[in-house]
This record gives sequence, structure tokens and C-alpha cells, in this order.
Amino acid sequence: MNNNRPYAIGLDIGGTNITGAIIRNTGEILEKISIDTNPETIADEVLERVYMMIDELMAKSEIPIDEVAGIGVATAGVIDSKENVIVFANNLDWQNVQIGRLLGDRFALPIKLTNDANAAAIAEWVWGGGKAYQNMIYITVSTGIGAGIISNGRLITGCDDSAGEFGHITINADGPLCVCGNKGCVERYASGTAIADRVQNQLKAEPHRKTFFGYENERVVTSKIVEEAADQGDELALNAFKEAGFYLGIGITNLINLFNPEVIILGGGVMKAQRFILPAIQETINERGISALTKRVQLSISSLDQDGGVLGGAGLFFMDQPSLTNNTVDHG
Ligand SMILES: [Zn+2]
Repeated sequence: MNNNRPYAIGLDIGGTNITGAIIRNTGEILEKISIDTNPETIADEVLERVYMMIDELMAKSEIPIDEVAGIGVATAGVIDSKENVIVFANNLDWQNVQIGRLLGDRFALPIKLTNDANAAAIAEWVWGGGKAYQNMIYITVSTGIGAGIISNGRLITGCDDSAGEFGHITINADGPLCVCGNKGCVERYASGTAIADRVQNQLKAEPHRKTFFGYENERVVTSKIVEEAADQGDELALNAFKEAGFYLGIGITNLINLFNPEVIILGGGVMKAQRFILPAIQETINERGISALTKRVQLSISSLDQDGGVLGGAGLFFMDQPSLTNNTVDHG
């Protein structure tokens, strides 16, 4: 019914920022606004500011409301996409927020909800590097690791919208304990946090080693600082990325064997250091994967990253339009 409406609003609710955008069905962002989340305030207050933001987007863009297909929300945490409820978002301290009903009542528009990794996957699939592919996987490597999986032209959600927890598959049976309760998760080896921890631990173990990080080991190491060090040719930093790439490669090989994708798109802050990580990922996949499956997989880096959440939210309204997504194109 709303399928012919050429615009949608994408809303990306994160622990630090909330970003809203009005987006044309071509993927063009007409207006975009970001506000601080202030997660310490209650959900009702945060939502009041979100309503104002949407009003402002509509006013600035001058798009009539009857040309808007709906509002698509991307958020971290546990969601129920059938009831449009944010069940639990620990970065916001939100529980059972009926975001679909609240936004629906306020704007009289259809509302859709997805998690942030799936939103980024949808954005890639509808408008980005996954366009025209029926089988693609988007992986975000940031402080944590997650994935969104499109298989045979459908987003795999699982029964509770929780599929794609790629960061929490085991790659080392006796590995370190993870926050999820499992051991040896991909996230413990290849996330930004893991990369920084590895370097920090090595600095502690070898306090007199001469490195980019100097002898001052009190300095808090982040994956961004590790990237700067790698740029200077620092061996610790280069090895940290290489190791992360190796473990990511093992995890990705598992995904390739399971889903037989055509393309894997990597995004998230850590992938800004792609020049240091990607070769190790590719090498590991080549070494370990089933060659019939691995040789046709294309690895690429997301070009949408910052806007993945809002684009994916809006993309929920345009996923089923083959004329826009060109999913029937044969890439041979
Ligand atoms: Zn885990």
C-alpha cells in the first residue's frame, strides 16, 4: 500500500548518538540529523527528542508525509521485529520500549525495526556493495563483531531476530571467556577491543621493548592508536592486525562453508585499517576454505559505513523492489 511512496525515514539509535535521515528510494540521503542519545535519561525523554528530530527532517526536506513509506529503526540490542519492541538495549538501559506503537501513534506511518548489524547488511544489499547479489554477508568489526546474512535473497533473522551473532561463534574451544558466556569467541580475538588488549598485554609483558608506544605503558591503547602505530611500521601493531585478520579469516571461512555467499562486505571502525587486516583474512580463507566455495567469494569494504544504520532502516521499506535493487542481475 505504501510501496509506491518514494521516501522513507531511517532512524539509527545508538548508545552515543541517534541519527535520523530522510532517504529517497535511490539511496540518496536528503536530510540527516544527529543528536546525542544521553542514555542516562529515560526512554520517554529520548523519544521526545526523536519526535522533534523527525519533525525537523520533514520540515527541512519539504517532503509531504503522504510520500513517506514509513519509519525504519535500527538499534543495538535484542529486538522483536514482529511486535516492533526494543526488548533490551544495554547501551541505552532500555527495556521493552514499544517503539513501533509510540512512533506509529505519533506519525501515523508504518514502522519497521531491525538490529544494527542487519540494518547495515540491508543498506549494503539495497544500495551498496551487495546490490544485485542474492547471497551476501555483511560483517561489522568494531568494539564488538556482528553480521547480517542475506541468503537466497532473504535476510536471515532467526525465530527471535537474533541470527547473525558472528562475534560469538567459537574459534578456539579453550579460548578466553566471553561476556556472552561462551569461550574463544571470534570477538575475543578480532574486535577492536581484542586488538587493543593484545597490544597492551604485550607492552606489559615486555616493558623494555622499543615500540611506537614508547616505554610509557600506562597509555591507554585503542585500536585507532594501534592503526597509527602500524602506519609507522611498528611490529607489535602490525602483528596485532595480522593476528586479528587470521582469526577473522577462520570465522569467515566457517561462514563461507555454511552459507556459500557471493560477496562478503566488511565494515566497522576496525576495517579502516583494512590495509593491515585484509591480506591476513584473504590468506586464511584461501588456505582453509573449500576452494570451490572460496574462489568465487569477493571480499570488499563497506562504502556506506557511517550511514549504514539510517540507510538500512529506510531500506526495510525498499527491500522488495527488484527494480531498485536489481537483485535479478546475473554477475556470472
Ligand atoms: Zn561470545
